[in-house]
Amino acid sequence: MSAKYSALTLFKNGLCGKKSWTPAWESSAPKSAYDVIIVGGGGHGLATAYYLASKHGVNRVAVIEKGWIGGGNTGRNTTVIRSNYFYQESTDLYDLSLRLYEGLSRELNYNVMFSQRGMLTLLHSEPEMEMGARAVNAMQLAGSDAELLGRDEVCQRAPTLNFDPQARYPIHGAAWQGRAGTGRHDAVAWGFARAAWRKGVDIIQNCEVTGFVMEGGMCKGVETSKGEIRADRVGVAAAGHSSVLAKLGGYRLPIQSYALQAFVSEPIKPIVDTVVFSPAYGSYVSQSDKGGLVIGGGLDRVPSYGQRGNLPVQETVLSGIVGMMPCLAPIKLLRQWAGIVDVTPDSSPILGPSGTPGIYVNCGWGTGGFKAIPGGGYVFAHILAKDEHHAYSRPFDISRFQTGRLFDEGAASGIAH
Ligand code: FAD
Repeated sequence: MSAKYSALTLFKNGLCGKKSWTPAWESSAPKSAYDVIIVGGGGHGLATAYYLASKHGVNRVAVIEKGWIGGGNTGRNTTVIRSNYFYQESTDLYDLSLRLYEGLSRELNYNVMFSQRGMLTLLHSEPEMEMGARAVNAMQLAGSDAELLGRDEVCQRAPTLNFDPQARYPIHGAAWQGRAGTGRHDAVAWGFARAAWRKGVDIIQNCEVTGFVMEGGMCKGVETSKGEIRADRVGVAAAGHSSVLAKLGGYRLPIQSYALQAFVSEPIKPIVDTVVFSPAYGSYVSQSDKGGLVIGGGLDRVPSYGQRGNLPVQETVLSGIVGMMPCLAPIKLLRQWAGIVDVTPDSSPILGPSGTPGIYVNCGWGTGGFKAIPGGGYVFAHILAKDEHHAYSRPFDISRFQTGRLFDEGAASGIAH
């Protein structure tokens, strides 16, 4: 389709109230039974449904979403995608996701606007440079692309940063991942939804899961605001509300839920063409295609389900951004929002059986599960289809909290992406 034709079509559709548009997917009424039910129509739930149908031939699948698809954290995040974690097991999982992102627009035939603009993790002292070197070595050994950059190389990549040696946190160098970048969050949800729906998956919106159907100690389906729906297996990908679902399902998760905030500025001319993150300032920034600066930082300090975010964190994040790039001081903020994220003690996800037979979980991605959507969905589909772990999900089984074989990614998961 030529650009002229599509612009004309858009104009015509605008005038006639979009009557000739066909929906990309349709919301389905629930059937009485499915092979697999996924609770949560965020990126992980939708990706799981897509891979169940496309890789495992399981297409009697329903995704049940209490609001609208992508209306949870998938539509609220700052869209940073990277795989620069510390442990081999984490790199395996996150790099699988990054590789899937690299081919996702083609796979789904839907432009998810993955822009591999690279990411700088700033290092502000010689001890930080030493720690950065160790982290980069670990990442390279684990197979992800990581480089240690000196101050001048950072200056070449992001000249608008504050290179004043008298700055609160002077820049000594950075850890760089060139394959990292950003994507379009809604498009990831919509692309997976359309592709899953075309393979026969039912997407059921405005339907809240209120309980689990238990028979002989085994889960046989879910109770919902639209009635009981039966299934052989139930996968729960309900970030932010994983503990609420766990209580209903009779299993326990080592999770605490916090509000995580994000901000976007008024649109300005291109000023930074990479993702920049400073652990010391506690802030990160990238610039969207519309020109807005997309800004994030750390968790709110107190666990809560209040999806608003509190002022002390806003002050820390925004003063950090101005410290990193003083030229941004006069820029106006356009919007601020928050999502509720599920945080585990080792800042790594939980994947696999929940402890209640028939219920499986994909949760605990905390501040960084957008980047993991294709990979998390891929391995969760494997678990649900085969009733056994994928090699990359096994280390993240909930049993690690009994064995003590933890993957503390508190540092590599950064503050909040
Ligand atoms: P969600 O998208 O939250 O989907 C879960 C769905 O479950 C929701 O739609 C919810 O309505 C539904 N649900 C809940 N309870 C029920 C019920 N009882 N019945 C039916 N449905 C239910 N990650 C990154 O990788 N990079 C980033 O830059 C980044 N930045 C972030 C910034 C912010 C401000 C926030 C909040 C998060 C950020 N994250 C980031 C984290 C990322 O957004 C999440 O980890 C990821 O989106 C989780 O996806 P999900 O599909 O598991 O959850």
